[in-house]
Amino acid sequence: MSVAATGGCQCGAVRFRIARLGRASICHCRMCQKAFGGFFGPLVGAKGLEWTRGQPSRFASSNLVKRGFCARCGTPLTYEYEGGVEIAIGALDDPELAPPTVELNPADKLSFFAHLHDLPGRPEKEAAANSAFLASVVNHQHPDEETAAWPKGPA
Ligand SMILES: [Zn+2]
Ligand SMILES: [Zn+2]
Repeated sequence: MSVAATGGCQCGAVRFRIARLGRASICHCRMCQKAFGGFFGPLVGAKGLEWTRGQPSRFASSNLVKRGFCARCGTPLTYEYEGGVEIAIGALDDPELAPPTVELNPADKLSFFAHLHDLPGRPEKEAAANSAFLASVVNHQHPDEETAAWPKGPA
């Protein structure tokens, strides 16, 4: 099988391969906001989707749609409907492969969405404390590439 993209959840319990990426979108609907815990749902069509490690759990968010997620770490993974399966763009190992080309359901768009790119950066006085925090971080996130075994050694 040809592979256009790989990806998985944050903890690495669920991994997938996609043969061909379809249309990439952001959806402003209230269900996507809730399902992603975010301001919108970033999704890309996933033709030839294959689960290579584990399986997602699913929640039927309506009579027409199931949403897949990792039951262990909670990462949102799929949007599944009669027309096919879409995958969460942020779950791809390389989200740059799926730049969105369309906005869906603009009626539910959050009022501040259009101003996000105008936000200032972190205040100077917080920067030192933040670099100390970052220096102490031990990363448990699965890397952005395929792994033969995971987790690596004793956690
Ligand atoms: Zn997980
Ligand atoms: Zn939506």
